[in-house]
Amino acid sequence: MDLLLIIVPLILVWASQMYINSSYQKYSTHDIKSKMTGKDVTEKILESHNLNKKIKIKKVSGTLTDNFNPKTNVVSLSNDIYSSSSIASVAVAAHECGHVLQHDEKYLFIMIRNFLVPIVNFSSKFGYIIIVVGWLLSLFDLILLGILLMSVALIFQLITLPTEFNASKRAAVELVKLNVITQEELKEVKKMLRSAAYTYVASFFANLAQLLRYLLILRRNDD
Ligand SMILES: [Zn+2]
Repeated sequence: MDLLLIIVPLILVWASQMYINSSYQKYSTHDIKSKMTGKDVTEKILESHNLNKKIKIKKVSGTLTDNFNPKTNVVSLSNDIYSSSSIASVAVAAHECGHVLQHDEKYLFIMIRNFLVPIVNFSSKFGYIIIVVGWLLSLFDLILLGILLMSVALIFQLITLPTEFNASKRAAVELVKLNVITQEELKEVKKMLRSAAYTYVASFFANLAQLLRYLLILRRNDD
């Protein structure tokens, strides 16, 4: 059982990484008909929501390092996403705009997520330390406390899932509404976005497995 809880999540995370990388490879070579780049798409979506003055767009290095920072109001697009007009570029850029819209509309899950950020930062750091200390001192209640603290991070990851799926849904709606892509291209955009979401699902299950493993060890030692 222990080995299963280690190996299955590892394979899951690895497979989802492989999947997103291969999707990215595939869809970064298909250009869309409108020839709009990730940057163009971001500008267009922001403009259509009157957010172009409030939100800045920045080019950053790396691959798939794209994100939206609600504190600085900056959408960061990686080099390729920024300047190419591939299916992958417009999908990822529009997805980040989806996060902008979530913040702008105070979407419920994003609000819960923002509320949890400082708590998660604290609890996952100390949760781990407490588990180790509890382990060294053989204090099972302390280990249990550590596990409880770490499960806050799991809740955070769970809240992240609908947030990610929702951002992708918004991305598809915007791309079609603004005539950036055709119906045919929409299918490919959706596939690209789905593969990106799987990595979040995989890492959630990996952490769930880790917590289960701790609980199993704890129960065994408690007998
Ligand atoms: Zn996202």
